[in-house]
Amino acid sequence: MKVYLLSAVEGAYGAFEREDYFTQEELRTGPGSGAGLPLRLQGRDADVVEELLSRAPHVVVTAPAADRTGLLVADIALLGEEPAELPDIPAGSRLELPGATPYLPTYEAASLGEPTAEFLRHYRDCALRAWGHRVLPRDEDRDEVPEWLALRHALLSQPLLEPERLARLALDFPEAAGWLAEHEERLLALRFGQRLNDVRTGVVATIHAGERVPLTGRAGGRGRPAASQPGRPSREKIVIYRFVEPNPGADWRWAMEQLRDRWSEYLAAEVMLRNPDRAPAFVEFVVLPMYGSPIVVENSSKSYARSRIEERRAEVRVQAQRFAAGDVTPTPGFVCRDCDLAHVCRMREQA
Ligand code: SF4
Repeated sequence: MKVYLLSAVEGAYGAFEREDYFTQEELRTGPGSGAGLPLRLQGRDADVVEELLSRAPHVVVTAPAADRTGLLVADIALLGEEPAELPDIPAGSRLELPGATPYLPTYEAASLGEPTAEFLRHYRDCALRAWGHRVLPRDEDRDEVPEWLALRHALLSQPLLEPERLARLALDFPEAAGWLAEHEERLLALRFGQRLNDVRTGVVATIHAGERVPLTGRAGGRGRPAASQPGRPSREKIVIYRFVEPNPGADWRWAMEQLRDRWSEYLAAEVMLRNPDRAPAFVEFVVLPMYGSPIVVENSSKSYARSRIEERRAEVRVQAQRFAAGDVTPTPGFVCRDCDLAHVCRMREQA
C-alpha cells in the first residue's frame, strides 16, 4: 500500500483539538476528562510526524515550491532536508511540454440581440461574459423579491401612472402608501420606462422615468410644459429619474455613486439634448431612493455632467461597432475575479 502526503508545506500538517459532535459537552471538558489530545500529539510534534510517515509501508511526500501568493516553505520534518528529485513521469498535458502552444479557442461572430446602453457597459468589461449572461440558461433566482423591488417593477410597468392605479398600488403595498401619497404629484407627472434610440449607433437607452418641467414659474415646480419657440432657447428642462434601493441615510455622495457608472441615463440625456425639435435647455439627473426623497445629482449645464455624457457617447460608439460585428472575444482582467463563466472561458488564469 502507498500513501501520498501532498502539499507538505509549513503549517499544513499537524494535530489539533477540534470539537467532536458525537461526544457530550460534559464528557469533553473539565480536568481529568481524558478527552483532550495528549500534549505530545499536539501541534507538529515528532510523534505527529512519525505517525504521518508511517501511515503505509510506502509514503510519498510532496510539496509545491510556490503558489500564486509566492514561494512556499516546505515542511522539512516531513520532506527531509534534501528532498529526492521527482522521478521522470510522462507529461500530463500538452502544456507541460516545452514549446507546446496552448490551445486557444477561436471566437466566431455571434448574434447578440438588441444593443442596449447598459448591456454595452457589461460588454465593454468582457464581451464573452456579457454574451454568456444574455444567451446561456441561468438558474432562476429563488430569492424572494424585496417589496421595494416589486413596487418599483409595478411603477415601471406602464408608461403613465393614473390616480386609480396609484390608489391600487397603495393597497397592494401598504407599507409604501405614505410614500406614494407624499410623492403623488411627482409620480403622476412622470413617464415611466422611456426608451430612447440613439439613431447614430442603434443603441437603446432605457430610463426609469422622465418628465419635462417648465423653467418659468417657481423653481423646480412642475406643470404643463411650455412649448419651445423655433429659433429660441428652450424654456424647459428634462428630469431623468433613477429609482434605487431604499437608504434612510441617502445623501448626495451616495446618490452620485448610484449614477456615476451608468450608461443609460447619460446616453438618454445625449439623445434628448440632440433632439432637433424639442431639445431641453438642460437635462437634470435625479436619484430617487424608494421610500425616500429625490436627490438631484447633477445637470447637463455643468461641465462634469457634460464630460460624462461625452464619455458615454464615445464609449457607446466604440462598443456598438464591436457589438454589430458580433465580437465575443473575452477580456481577461479585473472582472474575472467574480465571473461565473470562468469555468467555461478558462481565461481567468491569464488575467
Ligand atoms: S473569466 Fe474573465 S475573460 Fe473569461 S468570461 Fe469571465 S470575465 Fe471574461
